[in-house]
Amino acid sequence: MKIKMPRGTSDIIFEKAAKKQYIERLAIDLFEQFGYRPIVTPTFEHTELFQRGIGESTDIVRKEMYTFEDKGGRSLTLRPEGTAPVVRAYLEHGLASKSLPAKLYYCGQMFRYERPQAGRYREFWQLGIEVLGSQDALVDVEVILLLIRFLEKIGLKDLELHLNSMGCLVCRKSFGEALRKYLKDKMELLCIDCKKRVNSNPLRVFDCKNKKCQTIMKKAPLISDFWCESCRGHFETVKSILDDVGISYILNPALVRGFDYYTKTTFEVRTPYLGAQNALGGGGRYDGLVEELGGSPTPAIGWAIGTERVIMATEELNINLPLSSNTDVFVATIDGAREEGFKVLNFLRETGVSADMDYGNRSLKGQMKLANKLRASYVIILGPDELKKGICLIRNMNTGDQSEMQTSKISRWAKGEFKSGKVDFNG
Ligand code: AMP
Repeated sequence: MKIKMPRGTSDIIFEKAAKKQYIERLAIDLFEQFGYRPIVTPTFEHTELFQRGIGESTDIVRKEMYTFEDKGGRSLTLRPEGTAPVVRAYLEHGLASKSLPAKLYYCGQMFRYERPQAGRYREFWQLGIEVLGSQDALVDVEVILLLIRFLEKIGLKDLELHLNSMGCLVCRKSFGEALRKYLKDKMELLCIDCKKRVNSNPLRVFDCKNKKCQTIMKKAPLISDFWCESCRGHFETVKSILDDVGISYILNPALVRGFDYYTKTTFEVRTPYLGAQNALGGGGRYDGLVEELGGSPTPAIGWAIGTERVIMATEELNINLPLSSNTDVFVATIDGAREEGFKVLNFLRETGVSADMDYGNRSLKGQMKLANKLRASYVIILGPDELKKGICLIRNMNTGDQSEMQTSKISRWAKGEFKSGKVDFNG
């Protein structure tokens, strides 16, 4: 029996791999332009990090973590999200003593034991940013702006930015009490999970997928009624700067997102083109998380997007991403000119041209077919006769024109031909 990939995972190959790479490069260029620097954290962490960071009563920690014991008896977990690991690294390496805020970005796989469906996987890729050490409302706007600009740059349209404020820990406390009071006489109607949530963390009832619970939550009190002066003020400032920079948003007081660490500004970008899994990315402030994980009080904010969902949205909208997988020059050889051809190939590559040749002993006809498949712009043909004369044949694959050229002039020709294209010549 053949071994297949585990449920909810995927092999990213062919065009999808090129799309993923394009999206990641575009994101990284933009992150760098906005002054963010890369961070890479381990794929697994001590389980406690997520229990404390994300919250014991969240669905992610209760049901979705890939937790295992290693051979040394430690409980480890494949990361389900990127923020808690970044905060752990921030504390572990004393980033607070460097210039603040720390502006970081990451790209990596996340793991959640969810029921797989279109746009929802057990291993998926995220791109994300985190800003630690500033409570400035301008930072809230910067991260939101970066998210929207990134998705727009990819060509996505009709994006919906949902915006809310989760308030600070003080507002959240009174909100939690009000929710508990509201839910108390509706216990009978709630699902088993939500019955437990009412006491442990009533806010999480908003996440429940059960229809009855959702109907009950439609009339539940909203966090906006419990904002303190400072949280209300912060939110007003964020909204007015968003208005100034021309970012439109939908106020959504029911947006609570699936992690316990969010405070104040929270947001999610949705697309009308992806059905049930319509969230492309989201995030918010987490002003209490650094302290929760053992640091001193540090305001922070971040977001993550799901790369697969972004790819799906581009496909739904028929967006042609400019994937540059074309080969500039294909080197074809006949009868004993392979090694000489290999030299020409390497020489071309050193000048910055993307070049390839056949390693499958194909006939000249087979090599031309391969060149076509690789969408080569030119084919350089070398045979024993050409070698003797110190020349090669160059075929323009678009026009079909073929001419002779001295081998010593290949470099100058290549530089002239591909100078204005994507190749960066330094020779
Ligand atoms: P979150 O980390 O839950 O805030 O999610 C941020 C983004 O990651 C979502 O908006 C999705 O685009 C993506 N995402 C979350 N969970 C999954 C999943 N199971 N499969 C694919 N993408 C996901």
